[in-house]
Amino acid sequence: MVLAQLGGSISRALQQMSNATIIDEKVLNECLNEISRALLQSDVQFKLVKDMQMNIKKIVNLDDLAAGHNKRRIIQQAVFNELCKILDPGKPSFTPKKGKTSVVMFVGLQGSGKTTTCTKYAYYHQKKGWKPALVCADTFRAGAFDQLKQNATKAKIPFYGSYMESDPVKIAVEGVERFKKENCDLIIVDTSGRHKQEAALFEEMRQVSEATKPDLVIFVMDSSIGQAAFDQAQAFKQSVAVGAVIVTKMDGHAKGGGALSAVAATKSPVIFIGTGEHMDEFEVFDVKPFVSRLLGMGDWSGFMDKIHEVVPMDQQPELLQKLSEGNFTLRIMYEQFQNILNMGPISQVFSMLPGFSAELMPKGREKESQAKIKRYMTMMDSMTNEELDSTNPKLINESRMMRIARGSGRQFKEVMEMLEEYKRLAKIWSKMKGLKIPKKGDMSAL
Ligand code: GDP
Repeated sequence: MVLAQLGGSISRALQQMSNATIIDEKVLNECLNEISRALLQSDVQFKLVKDMQMNIKKIVNLDDLAAGHNKRRIIQQAVFNELCKILDPGKPSFTPKKGKTSVVMFVGLQGSGKTTTCTKYAYYHQKKGWKPALVCADTFRAGAFDQLKQNATKAKIPFYGSYMESDPVKIAVEGVERFKKENCDLIIVDTSGRHKQEAALFEEMRQVSEATKPDLVIFVMDSSIGQAAFDQAQAFKQSVAVGAVIVTKMDGHAKGGGALSAVAATKSPVIFIGTGEHMDEFEVFDVKPFVSRLLGMGDWSGFMDKIHEVVPMDQQPELLQKLSEGNFTLRIMYEQFQNILNMGPISQVFSMLPGFSAELMPKGREKESQAKIKRYMTMMDSMTNEELDSTNPKLINESRMMRIARGSGRQFKEVMEMLEEYKRLAKIWSKMKGLKIPKKGDMSAL
């Protein structure tokens, strides 16, 4: 995941600090310096990092830390708030309304994934019953119209563009007018990609905006954008009224801090993220769950949504009940492994939890992970009901472990490894104890 390394470094810095016996200004400064270093290494802009460090110092009260409150939590919360502030400047973007015509213009650097994102955005709304349409006002890049046309045709979304016309303003105006007449409620205008050095292209973008009067301008940004991010994003913001941001390629391994800087430069919220090349690899972006996950605090709301999405309806109540009881037995682990092997997508559920997917199911090594899960299950097949249903980790002593190893034809150390994995998962699971079970979309209970 993008920014995953950053999350890991921040968590380590916090851990080191909470290991210290006395928390004084020196220890706090060391921790904040470590966090700042992690942010800089992830390509977050220097000024932003400095401001963040100052804000955290202002918020964190050393006396509270000295008084033995949970130091890690206090600082983690401050870092959490600061990161949230960057990703969500507090004023919501214009939200188009179904059934009422809105024009949405997409801008961004070349190659940022703008054209792909226009179609994803249209497709997302189409699935929800909207009547979207796409206008290709990118006359600069050869093949842009073909690309949009191809995507639009695949998704059965009406489109407008021209091979002959070289004036993007003219095409944009014609397209918007046509689709207004056809009562489309979401008219999406794709524009050429450009860099801030290209003054003529920036002027052209301004003209398209002036002529089509978009209700919302969306800045599309590649998550791998590096240190140049802030200046580039600011240049766009200065030319057109950017109101929201979509960050693409979040499925990659980019450092991602540049994206944070760019969001800060536009002072606009991130509304969606792109998580792959396919049309449906597109997610609504929620700041708090994202930052929680980043800092290893667990993303319960995203987790619950995923459960509703991927676990078969008839299994949901039972799984949620077990979750809320917080008693993670080896049998539950067995059943979840079965789900993972049978259904695949349930692994997405667990990937929302800190520590689950990264170690048990690293991306790109699915085959090995599956083999490991099968191995674990063979060992569990040699367990007694008492062992499978127990919540007491001490029950399985050395002689029982030896029996399980013999029974399953595996080595003693493999049984030990499987039980370690169980303990690790049980620890994560136990955090859900007492969880109220919300209905889909209702996260207030969390
Ligand atoms: P544009 O020049 O900004 O219009 O960019 P394109 O839409 O042509 O996209 C550039 C490349 O990025 C294409 O190969 C897309 O398939 C790819 N792309 C776009 N969004 C994503 C995403 O979220 N994840 C991944 N992995 N690739 C993406």
